[in-house]
Amino acid sequence: MQKKTYTEIHNNIVSWYQEHGRVTLPWRNTQSAYEIYLSEIMLQQTQVKTVLERFYFPFLERFPTFNDVANAPVDDVLKAWEGLGYYTRARNLHKTAQATQGQLPNSAEALEKLAGIGKSTAHAVACFAFNESLPILDANVKRILYRFFAIEKRHEKTLWEKAYELFDQNNAYIYNQTLMDIGSMVCTHKNPNCKACPFESHCQGKESPLLYPEKKVKKSKPVKERFMIIYHYNNRYALSQNDTKLLGGLWAFVQEEAFDTNSNKVTQLGAFVHHYTHFRLDAKVLLLTQELKENHYFSLEEIDQLALSGADRKALELLKAYTK
Ligand code: SF4
Repeated sequence: MQKKTYTEIHNNIVSWYQEHGRVTLPWRNTQSAYEIYLSEIMLQQTQVKTVLERFYFPFLERFPTFNDVANAPVDDVLKAWEGLGYYTRARNLHKTAQATQGQLPNSAEALEKLAGIGKSTAHAVACFAFNESLPILDANVKRILYRFFAIEKRHEKTLWEKAYELFDQNNAYIYNQTLMDIGSMVCTHKNPNCKACPFESHCQGKESPLLYPEKKVKKSKPVKERFMIIYHYNNRYALSQNDTKLLGGLWAFVQEEAFDTNSNKVTQLGAFVHHYTHFRLDAKVLLLTQELKENHYFSLEEIDQLALSGADRKALELLKAYTK
């Protein structure tokens, strides 16, 4: 396909955006690079609806400026992120706030050097906040490009070439926003609506869009069986701060692979299943009346102020139900 044929698509995109674009999204109605960047980070692994309804505004209320993030302890940032998951994002946000002293650089090249900012996010922030004319390549855009060019094999480098090829450099802002909207509203994962799509006239994959890209071979997740042990002493409960890559900085109850549950000091509080991206946790929660040295002890009210992972929050709910 010749480059010149994209003119028609670029025109279709502008018309589509005027009629259907999600123009009221708050991060599309701000000049603040911090607010735009925050939305990009939150939206990396989370749907627009969830970010909009539960996380974006409370986070901005707690940290109105990027300087406020830089000046806060990382624990406070993690607490505001609690429930969003993928906590590396929050730690990197804090790291970036401190490294830039609350002032994001205004070019994709400089943005990409910061913690947690990949090429597509750097392009998005540079385009939306600083009018740099660059294409983006998030998950939704990737799906459109695989289908539009009928590419079966997943290959990041090829896709970046295609992203530049199809890109409307004279209208970068609308082009990029529209692709994100089309990806989540029209060229969806399971039910692409080709008839309503501004790419339809030249889309090479429209006859069988679900063929592109080829399906990933789904591996079943490994299961980790763990005892979550809540040490209890003087009406306070033991937690320590996690230092793993996955949940670093969050507060956690003790976990053990094996534990003798027969002691009369042990009360079984219940069990739950928690899904992580790469494994499933099957947890049995125990209350153990015993002091655990070198741990921090908190009352239930104090625990509510800490940043906990989803699994530890489930264990806490079992504890609260028991102590009611
Ligand atoms: S025409 Fe269909 S397959 Fe092609 S980009 Fe649009 S929705 Fe996706």
